[in-house]
Amino acid sequence: MSHFRFRCTECGVFYEESKTRLTCTACAVAQQPGGVLRGVLEVVLDQLPAAWPAAHVASPEFLQAFLPVPSTEFLPAISVGGTPLLAVPHLRRAFGMTNLWVKDDTRNPSGSTKDRASLLVVAKALEYGCETIAAASTGNAATALAAIAAAAGVRAIVFVPATAPEAKLVQMQSYGAVVMPVEGTYDQAFELCLEACREFGWYNRNTALNPFTIEGKKTAALEIAAALTPDEPDAVLVPTGDGVILAGVAKGFADLKRCGILRRTPRLIAVQPEGSAAIVNALRSGAETITPVRHAASVADSLTVETPRNALQCLRVVRASQGAGITVSDSAILRAIADLARLTGVFAEPAGATALAGLRAALEEKLVGRD
Ligand SMILES: [Zn+2]
Repeated sequence: MSHFRFRCTECGVFYEESKTRLTCTACAVAQQPGGVLRGVLEVVLDQLPAAWPAAHVASPEFLQAFLPVPSTEFLPAISVGGTPLLAVPHLRRAFGMTNLWVKDDTRNPSGSTKDRASLLVVAKALEYGCETIAAASTGNAATALAAIAAAAGVRAIVFVPATAPEAKLVQMQSYGAVVMPVEGTYDQAFELCLEACREFGWYNRNTALNPFTIEGKKTAALEIAAALTPDEPDAVLVPTGDGVILAGVAKGFADLKRCGILRRTPRLIAVQPEGSAAIVNALRSGAETITPVRHAASVADSLTVETPRNALQCLRVVRASQGAGITVSDSAILRAIADLARLTGVFAEPAGATALAGLRAALEEKLVGRD
């Protein structure tokens, strides 16, 4: 890796790397407690590879070339990413699409794409000498942190709504995480975790607030682009809650364009459940910011959020990509779980299958072409 700095995604000011810096000082002045995050920082590497490294996409050497880690020694010894981009012939036939791929991130160690963010955050915590890492989560980010922390031998403390699915609670406890069930929403768990990190000096993995969460998730985009070479993706549908996976995917493609590996970046389509659609509502109305959804609810528990923390950056990157937003009903999500399983062999939780439900809706609205 080369040297890197943080850049504010709102005002563009640069900051030197620091383990305690989370957001831009100037923009965070406008921060409302519980509101969308102001002054979210992105990682800007001084140097990116000019061509695909020879190493496998999930190898420590590949990760070191694209991520802000000084050496491979701090990367936890657990295999994250390198998941297949499936050609899905039966799904293609069912949808009448000849160039459709499914990125199967269920193959990550804890079962979700959140492992990508946790890998980098835990690597940075090890580099900084932090032994306790905390996160608030609807479930998957906490499970991912618990898994990667277990591999690295550091302590994870996770704040999750007490209503999180029992299977996820069992899984994060099995990895040895300290689980704090919060009698409240994910939004309240986020605030509680923030206060606890301030009080006790824990390293904060809260999504978007920690710039390495977005940076870690960019590896999904790197892998998509690498798998399609010499072709380039036209559009990517991303299940969206807080907007961090989408921002991470956008960052990956932006880095590849910056270093000349990609000629253009794909259109990004944010897919949200109807009952938790603050970002898509803003995309559709043209609003500059989001209006929180009161009593957000969906069968896709991992996407259910009243105030998407990374909304501002998410709106910017979707619009910059000439992309769009789309909402799907809970029944469409449940149908997509069955379609995906039956036609591809991939069994996804509701949040993952939301992407396929979104594709069906996007075809109907002609937001994507069948070619
Ligand atoms: Zn700023």
